[in-house]
Amino acid sequence: MNTIIAKRKCCGCGACASICPKQAITMQEDKEGFLYPVIDETLCIDCQKCVKTCPQLKQEELFYPDPKFYVAHNNDEATIKRSASGGAFSALSNYVLKQQGVIYGVVLDEALNIRHSRATTALERDKMCSSKYVQSRIGDTYKLAKHDLAAGRTVLFTGTPCQIAGLKAFLGKDYPKLYLCDLICHSVPSPLIWQEYLQALGEENGQKVTYVNFRDKTKGWQRASTLKGFAYAGADGKLKEDNRFYKLFFRAQVISRLSCVTCKYARVQRVSDITIADYWGVEKYLPDWVDYYGVSFIMTSTEKGQKLLEACQQDIKFLERPPQEEITENHRLRGPMGIPEEARQKFWQEYYDKGFKYVLDKYTKD
Ligand SMILES: Cc1cc2nc3c(=O)[nH]c(=O)nc-3n(C[C@H](O)[C@H](O)[C@H](O)COP(=O)(O)OP(=O)(O)OC[C@H]3O[C@@H](n4cnc5c(N)ncnc54)[C@H](O)[C@@H]3O)c2cc1C
Repeated sequence: MNTIIAKRKCCGCGACASICPKQAITMQEDKEGFLYPVIDETLCIDCQKCVKTCPQLKQEELFYPDPKFYVAHNNDEATIKRSASGGAFSALSNYVLKQQGVIYGVVLDEALNIRHSRATTALERDKMCSSKYVQSRIGDTYKLAKHDLAAGRTVLFTGTPCQIAGLKAFLGKDYPKLYLCDLICHSVPSPLIWQEYLQALGEENGQKVTYVNFRDKTKGWQRASTLKGFAYAGADGKLKEDNRFYKLFFRAQVISRLSCVTCKYARVQRVSDITIADYWGVEKYLPDWVDYYGVSFIMTSTEKGQKLLEACQQDIKFLERPPQEEITENHRLRGPMGIPEEARQKFWQEYYDKGFKYVLDKYTKD
């Protein structure tokens, strides 16, 4: 067997590599820096487990119908400040920590690469807080989560909807102590462009970037894509702002993974027990809920998700809302971002031919 799925459809979750009984599949970077499965034909026994597990080849059975919609915010202001939205993730994960459970989520490593990680303490969990707008590497976290579940631990696994769909397909069954939590996802940018950008920032500032915050809230919680508050610092610790990565990601829309163009998870029906996001438009619908540092949107799609939310009442205030508010405001509930494919191709060609600095200048002017 030489392919699992057409490249343009592969979301890079790595469920295929995790399930392969012969370790014949490795996830390898392509020219855009995204991971894709590569099969070692000498090890492959053609068992088709990879094909049967691929969430992108599955249909409707992945989705739960009829979620409930909530506005929410954490009771602790410091928690909201360090979170992308209203601190829903911290509340949910606090509950799991109290059960001596395990949390899987996304961290920045020492080289500021973005990857999934395992946490059993609040300190480790805190590193998962806030959005990192780059596709994370799942690594061996699906296998670790399965191991934790087999050992009877409570597990909260968080990620983009396609990563959650990959985990579900990999596990192949439900576990009573497993909580799945996805984000509403705009799309995921290239890890290669992210590293190029860090390099460029470092060169411009004469010092390597050692700290980043994708959602710095010094100027509050901002909806406008290029005002989301990207802050960084080098060895001197001086915090600076720059919005050019967001111009590439949100405005030019040229650095996201190809499979995001046809994302099937950008819809109201979800693959997780619980979904977390930003409650955009809160000022219109619920002026009393406006918080300078952010407000969360939560969807519960299963009884388990509902019970988890209710178990967090000590940490988070929430109120059920009519679905139409966020279906109107949160675009990724209505379909994938309209990535102009030709523009995307042009960008990558210019990057290969003329280098990162050229495309950074060209696509982020004004
Ligand atoms: C790539 C991306 C696109 C998003 N697009 C939208 C959108 O279109 N609309 C919207 O309302 N919200 C979007 N969000 C979600 C939003 O930014 C917040 O992450 C979410 O509201 C949770 O915030 P919080 O305050 O509850 O907790 P936080 O502390 O901010 O939650 C952090 C959570 O996000 C997870 N996470 C962080 N980075 C990544 C990543 N790269 N990949 C997978 N999981 C990650 C962590 O594991 C943790 O579970 C997006 C997030 C990401 C990472």
